[in-house]
Amino acid sequence: MKVPVPSNVVEQAARKKLQERGVTLKDIAKIVYDLQVKFYESLTFEECLESVDAVLYKREIQHAILVGIELDELAERGQLSEPLLSIIKSDEGLFGVDETIALGSVFGFGSIAVTSFGYLDKGKVGIIKELDDFKGQTNTFLDDLVASVAASAAARLAHRLRDRDENRSRQELEKLDLEDKIG
Ligand SMILES: [Mg+2]
Repeated sequence: MKVPVPSNVVEQAARKKLQERGVTLKDIAKIVYDLQVKFYESLTFEECLESVDAVLYKREIQHAILVGIELDELAERGQLSEPLLSIIKSDEGLFGVDETIALGSVFGFGSIAVTSFGYLDKGKVGIIKELDDFKGQTNTFLDDLVASVAASAAARLAHRLRDRDENRSRQELEKLDLEDKIG
């Protein structure tokens, strides 16, 4: 009989992997802040951090993180077969599977997440740029995964801030939050 892996095990593994590879939630929240402060002057860093934390409860995001980082680590240790090993190690520009996996994980957060991901993929800011430039480890998938988490958190925040502006009740907001965490 197949026994499913408990959700909290997957969630913790994804968070741990990000940390082990040198990415903090604060690094991602800084990107979210820069994306959203243009639209909400009163935005706080704490709100961005809270949104990054919230999207990391999404299974689709956790799974993308686990798959992508695993491939980065296998490539780093020379444990993939050729020619895939060389393609991932050299961060081959036309490869695109790193972007595809990351992009696939943002769909649950809608069009703002998709367009923000494209923007971050092109612009490479903050920790995304640092990861892209860093030669000490293979970050072929990681930079895109960080962009996807930031894009999802930014989209979630944009919708939450509108809800707050409209003074929706605490009960309604809690319901929306619960809905978001399905999957
Ligand atoms: Mg990449």
